[in-house]
Amino acid sequence: MSVKVNAGACIMCGACPGVCPVNAIEVSVIEVHILDDCTECGLCAKVCPMGAIVVERKV
Ligand code: SF4
Ligand code: SF4
Repeated sequence: MSVKVNAGACIMCGACPGVCPVNAIEVSVIEVHILDDCTECGLCAKVCPMGAIVVERKV
């Protein structure tokens, strides 16, 4: 699995870093990054108002 941010959909609202239990989301002035500490819990994807965060399951 991996967690990706769709930069085109993200409105930089700042909600996702607030819910990440391992502080694996970095919001810079231009984009949101998911860091290597991510445990793929999916909380950020649930809180994103734009549906911009996708947890992908590799098959
Ligand atoms: S999936 Fe969970 S651990 Fe990974 S960035 Fe989102 S909230 Fe943080
Ligand atoms: S919650 Fe969604 S829209 Fe808000 S900063 Fe995070 S990725 Fe962007």
